Amino acid sequence: MSMKDFKELGISSKLITELEQHGIVKPTLVQEKTIPLVLKGKDVMVQSETGSGKTIGFAVPTIDMVKKEGKVQVLVITPTRELAKQISEEYEKFSKFKDLKTAVVYGGVSINNQAQQVRISEIVVGTPGRLLDLLNRRLLNLTYCSFLVIDEADRLMDMGFIDDINAIIKFMPVQKQSLMFSATINSKVLKLMETFLNNPVKIMLENIIKRGVLKQYYYNVSSRDKISLLVHLLKTIKHGLTLVFCNTKRQTRFVAKALKKNGINAEAMNGDMTQFMREKVLRLFGLEKIEVLVATDVAARGIHIEDITHVFNYDLPDDEETYTHRVGRTARNGKTGTAIILLSDRDFQNMDKIKKAYRGMIDEVKTEEYERIKIPVMKREGRMSPRRSFNRRDKSSGSIASRHLRRRGRR
Ligand code: AMP
Repeated sequence: MSMKDFKELGISSKLITELEQHGIVKPTLVQEKTIPLVLKGKDVMVQSETGSGKTIGFAVPTIDMVKKEGKVQVLVITPTRELAKQISEEYEKFSKFKDLKTAVVYGGVSINNQAQQVRISEIVVGTPGRLLDLLNRRLLNLTYCSFLVIDEADRLMDMGFIDDINAIIKFMPVQKQSLMFSATINSKVLKLMETFLNNPVKIMLENIIKRGVLKQYYYNVSSRDKISLLVHLLKTIKHGLTLVFCNTKRQTRFVAKALKKNGINAEAMNGDMTQFMREKVLRLFGLEKIEVLVATDVAARGIHIEDITHVFNYDLPDDEETYTHRVGRTARNGKTGTAIILLSDRDFQNMDKIKKAYRGMIDEVKTEEYERIKIPVMKREGRMSPRRSFNRRDKSSGSIASRHLRRRGRR
């Protein structure tokens, strides 16, 4: 919940009374970030999910700006009829004091009734197919429509509505304010944003605003040197509780062991561990008895710890949503946080997707200065044949690698 109230966000007192009558007294975070920008006339792109209060985030400021004059001034495009109904109900509820009319249009039912409704409405909420149908038949006039809301843009894209949306927008004036909402920000959504929004303000609640400030960096490093770099960074940068994400269980074991061998207080957490062990590790992490947790995405689902200062991506996931989930473990509750990617050639493809989603937000740190730091770590797990490890066991070398192999041999 926000610290501000609707009055501070610039909402009219009549509308505030209307909201209060429906038990809406404090804005949600999406509303706090979105409403003032909309009232200022900005185009916005908001990352938000159903349940975040996004509907009021766009409905309330547009209600305040619309005039009662029987011309369509707000168009909301949404992927499903259920959403269209829900949104139109909210518009109706909160615009009673101005006597605004809202029409809801979707396919599968007769068009005539809907055509009548849109003729007398200031607000139209609909699904793309039916909207386009009404427009093509000249039953809907958008000449005076100054607000376009694209709701659930990611779903609209996934459902293949891009051409319909393109066609609908051609019926609108060029001069208009556009607001786009999406649960996920992927490359398709960004493309849509670039096409339809004019210099939009981006509100990424999932990973920045709700949680304070997130700094994102990447190091370009050969995969051979990744573990050395991780050890080096964990030993040199000031960090609190830290999460290291790996893509596989095996990698979590390898990384956690390497860190431990180098004196870093780390543990692995993966789906191979019993529930009891996982809970124990989590408890110790929460108590700061373990500093670095090396986890897979699945195992990390159970982590509800607010004070994580650093998130490392030892490997990169192959979709930006997972990356967003990972880095969202830090910079929570107004605190700052740092996300670091250890990028090697096998991550390049995944990095392209993530860079697109986080355009200009992830800075490279040059690794030259770390080139010479080679921290001794053991060989990757499972590479040695038992015979070789047995032979090595007999040599009493003090190196980390051989100590590791000795232990393995005993098991
Ligand atoms: P939405 O994310 O727009 O689907 O909204 C989810 C639910 O939260 C709806 O039932 C809204 O009526 C409710 N809601 C939205 N904003 C607020 C608020 N500021 N205070 C209380 N409830 C809200």
